[in-house]
Amino acid sequence: MAKSWPLNLRRKLVTFRGRSDAVSERAKRLLVKTLYTQPSTLAIGAFCGVSSTAIAAWVSKHDILYLGSVILTLIAAARIIAALKLPREEEQISTHKLELTYEVGAYSYALTFGTIAAATIALAAPAGVEVLMVANALCYGVAICARNAGSPVIAIGQLALICLPIMVAAAWVGSPAMIALLITIILLIPAMISITFNVFHVLRDSILAAENSAQLADKMWVLARTDVVTGLANRAGLNHAMAEALMVAEADAKVALFWIDLDRFKEVNDLMGHPVGDRVLAEVASRLRDVAPERATVARFGGDEFVVFVPDCDRKDSERLASEMHAEIMRVIRVDSERLEVRASLGVALMPDDGHDIDSLMQNADLALYQAKVNGRSQTCFYDPSMSRDLVRRREIEDELRAAIHRDELSVFFQPIVDLETGRIKTFEALVRWFHPEKGELRPDEFIPVAEESGLILTLGNWITAQAARACAQWPEDVSVAVNLSPLQIRAPGAVLGILGALRESGLDPKRLELEVTESLFLDDSPATSHFIEELSAIGVRFALDDFGTGYSSLGYINTFPFNKIKVDRSFISGPNVGKKSEAIIRAVVEMGATLEMEIVAEGIETVEQVEAVRNAGCTLGQGYYFSRAVPDYLAAMLLAQERNEPIGMHRKIG
Ligand code: C2E
Ligand code: CA
Ligand code: CA
Repeated sequence: MAKSWPLNLRRKLVTFRGRSDAVSERAKRLLVKTLYTQPSTLAIGAFCGVSSTAIAAWVSKHDILYLGSVILTLIAAARIIAALKLPREEEQISTHKLELTYEVGAYSYALTFGTIAAATIALAAPAGVEVLMVANALCYGVAICARNAGSPVIAIGQLALICLPIMVAAAWVGSPAMIALLITIILLIPAMISITFNVFHVLRDSILAAENSAQLADKMWVLARTDVVTGLANRAGLNHAMAEALMVAEADAKVALFWIDLDRFKEVNDLMGHPVGDRVLAEVASRLRDVAPERATVARFGGDEFVVFVPDCDRKDSERLASEMHAEIMRVIRVDSERLEVRASLGVALMPDDGHDIDSLMQNADLALYQAKVNGRSQTCFYDPSMSRDLVRRREIEDELRAAIHRDELSVFFQPIVDLETGRIKTFEALVRWFHPEKGELRPDEFIPVAEESGLILTLGNWITAQAARACAQWPEDVSVAVNLSPLQIRAPGAVLGILGALRESGLDPKRLELEVTESLFLDDSPATSHFIEELSAIGVRFALDDFGTGYSSLGYINTFPFNKIKVDRSFISGPNVGKKSEAIIRAVVEMGATLEMEIVAEGIETVEQVEAVRNAGCTLGQGYYFSRAVPDYLAAMLLAQERNEPIGMHRKIG
């Protein structure tokens, strides 16, 4: 935990680590310090002792008592001076020295006091003087024992040193009253020892409990701000570090915020498992830490996103830093025997140019990152105010789509594909619909590309396929369902498993599932694509070539892959550009289809004239608003039921 945390946090961590050994030491120090608290009680004790011995000496006129009084006064004065001169700062004096200083003063005071009291007995001072001294000495002994319970040895030592001379004197005199005094003191001492230890244990336990809870609070503090996988700061840790840094920063301070997202990290997780994914994250984290300056805070925001906050960093510094971070992340990562190459997209926002507070800085760095991804990933984008509203809207859609999937705002509708000879429904094409609670219906053309860019299409696509298969399993056996697949979905690891899962779960015969793919799929010659199509064709799943005529017109792949259907794009059927030329194209496609034994579907049929036209051109199947729009599953089932109760008619409108 080096560079990721600012200095004060690190200090906290270090103290925290060394804390366990230090608990007893600190507790001991606190206990010893209780010796010095409440100096007023010490002063009262000193005053009573000094004044009573002075009075005793003056009344009885014994030289020994005068001497004792002077010695006691000197000791009291020395103790007061020592207490006042003791360094206030804790670190300046050791616990042992603190204890020893007190000990020497306390013991000599107690012994002198006890001896003076004993002397009044031995010298047979007037009864009043004896009472004054013995009472004072014993009171002092008992009181000091209670007061100094934080250090039981000192407390009991003081009591013993006061009592012993009195006991010796009492035994020596031997009168019944003195024997009674002796016995009283003998009983008093064990009672006081027990009381002292009781108080000491209570004191020590409460100090230890307070220490432990302080330690626990520190631990929680650190944990709440740390990302467990990488040891970096988490979102809360970053917020704390940024707030702290900005609090002490000058008004015109330059600050840079880097928002880093690993490209296609989900694939690493899916292909190699989460433990490998975690190790990759930890490695990226340590590289970022190494490359970031000491003053920076490096944080991980869940998933594969990292944020680096660098105070005192201008545009030039941040450009250099961004390219260093790219280079570090791209270096091959070795996990066991695997060599992994990771890439990242970076968004950067600078303070004060791109925002004056943390929130706008974060928002703009995030937007810049989004732009970097839209531009094709593996690059850095600096925030620029011209980053369009379009981008903001796309970003919004992405966030909302993520939530929509969880909130069940999406549904799958079904549009019939009709046999142009008999008018019967042969297939339903599954089309996703999004009914946003505030924005109303959002068009798939708008959100499907966003889902593709963000990788959300994988979750969404699997969900749509599962819904479609489930619905189709309820329909008569001669009706199939067609599902649109985007290229990304097909190339993703586990794509085949997604389809197989939907089939297994619904119990649908694979022959009744048709997958619609577009020509763009064949733009790059990916082995994943051929593998996907071959594996699923082998179990009977059918393939249709969607939007035919809009793409790249390299017909090679039509021969290579086992398509069952070609869907002629609706721009050839309806719309402003339809004419002789498009009719000729349809005829050519139909001819090709006949040779290759493929069915030809005409998309986007809106009028009866168009039905006639495509039928005359040789299309066998038709789809479009003329027959029906996409409808919810229960209406699709109704259309089928209705159709099966009616005599077969020619190309009729069913919607
Ligand atoms: P597509 O695959 O070509 O789907 C046919 C689109 O044409 C649908 O639009 C359908 O409602 C529309 N359409 C059908 N008949 C007519 C007609 O007579 N006239 C006109 N003007 N349009 C007609 P939709 O549902 O808005 O979908 C648009 C595109 O979004 C789809 O084009 C497909 O590329 C994509 N899409 C829709 N649903 C999904 C899905 O579940 N997964 C994926 N990957 N893409 C989807
Ligand atoms: Ca389609
Ligand atoms: Ca189409």
